[in-house]
Amino acid sequence: MAQTAREFSAGGVVVRHKDGQWWVAVIRPTGREASKKKSAKSKITQAAKPVLTLPKGLIDPGEKPEETAVREIQEETGIDAERVVKLGNVKYVYMRSWSDGARVFKVVTYYLFRYISGRIGNIKPEMRHEVEEALWIPLQEATQVLTYKGDREMARAALEYIQKNPNLTT
Ligand code: ATP
Repeated sequence: MAQTAREFSAGGVVVRHKDGQWWVAVIRPTGREASKKKSAKSKITQAAKPVLTLPKGLIDPGEKPEETAVREIQEETGIDAERVVKLGNVKYVYMRSWSDGARVFKVVTYYLFRYISGRIGNIKPEMRHEVEEALWIPLQEATQVLTYKGDREMARAALEYIQKNPNLTT
C-alpha cells in the first residue's frame, strides 16, 4: 500500500483597506471545482461552484515559509505584499489524482500580509494554467465564501487581528 506523503506549503491572507473597508486577495485555481455537499434532503442538482481560495504554494528546498508566501502571492495574484504576522497552520489530507495516487498529509502555514503595490490579476502567462482569476473580495465576506474551512478560519483570524490592530502594526 502506498505510504502517506507529506507536503508543506505557505501562503498569505493579503489585506488592503480601500473605500472604507478591508479587502482580501483571493484566487480561482484553473479547472478546479468545489466538491458538492451531499444532502439527503435536497434533490436539487446544484451547479458546480468554482473554488475560491487563498494564494499559497509548496515551500522550495532552502526557502523559508515566509519567503514562499511572498513569492506565491506575487506569482498567483500579481501583487507585492509585506508580511505582518503569522496567522496559523492549516492541515488537511487529500488523495493525489496524478502519478502515485498517494495519500497526502499537508500543512500550510499562513501569514497576514498588507498590500504594497501592483494590480491584482497581473500575472505571468505561464501562471494561467494554475490561476484562472485573482480578485479582491471583502474580508468579511471571505470568512463565509472561501471554499475550504481552513481558508475561512485564516480569514477570520485576519479579521480579528485587524480589529485589534487597525493600523496593522505587529
Ligand atoms: P500548492 O498550492 O500548495 O502548490 P496544489 O495546488 O498542488 O498545492 P492543493 O491546493 O493542496 O494542491 O490541492 C490538492 C487537493 O487538496 C485538491 O483536491 C484540493 O481541493 C484540496 N484542498 C486544497 N486546499 C484545501 C484545504 N484548505 N482544505 C481541504 N482540502 C484542500
